[in-house]
Amino acid sequence: MLDLTSITAAEAEIRIEKLRTLIHDYNRRYYDEDNPLVSDAEYDQLLRELEALEAAYPLFQDASSPTQVVGGTVRSDFSKVTHAVPMQSLQDYFSQTEVVSFLNRVRELLQDEDKSTVNPSFVVEQKIDGVSVSLEYRNGIYFQGLTRGDGLEGEDITENLRTLKDIPNQLQEAIPRLIVRGEVYMPFASFERLNERQSREGLRLFANPRNAASGSLRQLDPTVTASRYLSLFIFNIQLIEGKQFTSHLEGLEWLATQGFPTIPLVRTYTGDADIWQAILDIENERNQLPYGIDGAVIKVDSLFDRELLGQTSKVPRWAGAFKYAAERQQTRVEDIVIQVGRTGVLTPLAILTPVLIDGSTVSRATLHNEDYIAAKDIRVGDLVWVEKAGDIIPSIISVDETERPEGSKPYKMPSHCPSCGSEVTRESGEAAVRCTSPDCPAQLFRHLVHFTSRDAMNIIGFGESKVQLFLDEKLISGIADIYQLHEKREQLLNLPLFGEKSVNNLLAAIEDSKGNSLERLIHALGIRHIGINGARVLAEHYPDLKSVMQASPSELAEIADFGDITAKSIHQFFQLDHVKKLIEDLAALGLNMQSSIYQTDGGSEELRELPLTGKTLVITGTLPSLKRKEAQDMAREAGAKVVNSVSQKTDFVLYGEKAGRKLDDAKELGIELLTEEDFLKLIQNMEK
Ligand code: NAD
Repeated sequence: MLDLTSITAAEAEIRIEKLRTLIHDYNRRYYDEDNPLVSDAEYDQLLRELEALEAAYPLFQDASSPTQVVGGTVRSDFSKVTHAVPMQSLQDYFSQTEVVSFLNRVRELLQDEDKSTVNPSFVVEQKIDGVSVSLEYRNGIYFQGLTRGDGLEGEDITENLRTLKDIPNQLQEAIPRLIVRGEVYMPFASFERLNERQSREGLRLFANPRNAASGSLRQLDPTVTASRYLSLFIFNIQLIEGKQFTSHLEGLEWLATQGFPTIPLVRTYTGDADIWQAILDIENERNQLPYGIDGAVIKVDSLFDRELLGQTSKVPRWAGAFKYAAERQQTRVEDIVIQVGRTGVLTPLAILTPVLIDGSTVSRATLHNEDYIAAKDIRVGDLVWVEKAGDIIPSIISVDETERPEGSKPYKMPSHCPSCGSEVTRESGEAAVRCTSPDCPAQLFRHLVHFTSRDAMNIIGFGESKVQLFLDEKLISGIADIYQLHEKREQLLNLPLFGEKSVNNLLAAIEDSKGNSLERLIHALGIRHIGINGARVLAEHYPDLKSVMQASPSELAEIADFGDITAKSIHQFFQLDHVKKLIEDLAALGLNMQSSIYQTDGGSEELRELPLTGKTLVITGTLPSLKRKEAQDMAREAGAKVVNSVSQKTDFVLYGEKAGRKLDDAKELGIELLTEEDFLKLIQNMEK
């Protein structure tokens, strides 16, 4: 976290932009792909830092900042529906002091209005760790079910939700209209069962019950949702016609009579001490619950007071969430084993005596690298505290040295690769120990998994277990072999779990991937320091892979987004004989090696003129129909470079509602302003 007292406004602006980009990216992985990149604690910390920076530098506020909008989006394969009442998020609190400030703020706001009691009643509820949904009933009959989406529009998952046995199809009273909000969750037992099944079938494991619930709800086939044993708690009435309540409690009691499973709730409180105790009581019960909770929600009970308090663009002012710290447990390190990754990095992993944390069994923890183990002095046999850091990969927090077995020795990394026996190296300035042998089978396995993965060549039907199976059966022994699998159709058909249809699908997916963009191919090759963004930058700068391969380190280092280390890494990669041979083979097999987004800075070898080639564009505010990501992708596909801040070099600013400072800057600099309509016309006209 930055020290706010010691930075300049310019530094703050850079950090704010960086945090926004990072958080947008984490949101996409978490909400849209159900596959988080970082722990919740890490995410929460970044969001807090951004909140603090925006509060300290109000001139950099932006209505589209992740601090101002609800995090998710609507996936294009579901129909979009506008929420009759926006589905907001909650303000998170992390300490007793913050909770008390929230309570006092509520009391003060109500007092200012001088219309209601100044000693309001609050309820304290479990904060269910699941997926937010709304259910609408018309004349007492289930009509529609939506996800939260971006809070204003959600995905239509009516049929998927219908498969949940907790959701009544018909209410006891046929009131004209009712919209309720609740949380769909996956009980721990269903989660363990689902992951066992995923593992048996060689499919991706879900990081936690929340991601599993979200992935299960957003299935195009409702029978898949039905097989996942999801449950639900209703915690709010969003809209009701034909009936009126004065308090939240009264509303929940009525909902229970209508057949809804309502959020477990006991009573109301007014004093700080009682409210805090209720929060602690829920935390104490946490371990016994058959489902996950990640906090407690404190809400004003009176619906009249809620009206008065209102909301911000992201959260109601009448509610707040206290987030519990991740749960920790003690267990023993039984062994330390080594995994060899795609780039040859040896990653140590602790094998633990299985222990239950947050409802799921933990038997492994990452140890990252040699330095991490040394800093904590983690040894085989040690009694350690383990935490599910944001529920992704458990980590060891500390060692209880008083319980250390006699004669235990500090851990030493192996000097040879456990997979191929080659000597390992550790470069100066790096924490990682690597195997550099190009023939290492563990690296080959990881390479193949990466090459075929969703963000790389996206060949559906591969995945870890299939890669292992094809290697074991000697159907492939390298990347190029993937594109010759069609010659081994008969052998594929003889494999367990492979039928006519799955083999056809797999071969079609392989064939399709030949036409993938150059940036996907570059990313798939697995160059150190080059992810999908770096690959995109290369595809923007070079017309084809051959030109990337011929680029010198100094030329690469001149590309704005790369430093010397990345430039050197790209250059060295393409000097390797086995890489040259692989690319030759892939080209001969018909893979696309040309860039479709290549831009020149006025050079002569321009390959393809795209509508916005050479133009720089900034997007600000909320666009009427396009999501920001959609607009970014469209602009990039049209050849533009999309950047975050407005400068003399900016050609266009595409702006929407609640555009902030960037629009003012653009006006000041005389930059051409585009509405969404102008932008779409511009792309179309230029395409003609
Ligand atoms: P939130 O999950 O902190 O709180 C809002 C949600 O709580 C609502 O959508 C609601 O459905 C739910 N909820 C559960 N029980 C409730 C109850 N009794 N009453 C009212 N609401 C209840 O907020 P959010 O905006 O959905 O998500 C932010 C959180 O998600 C962050 O705190 C972060 O930990 C996590 N997140 C993590 C990542 C990551 O990469 N790890 C990325 C994005 C978000």
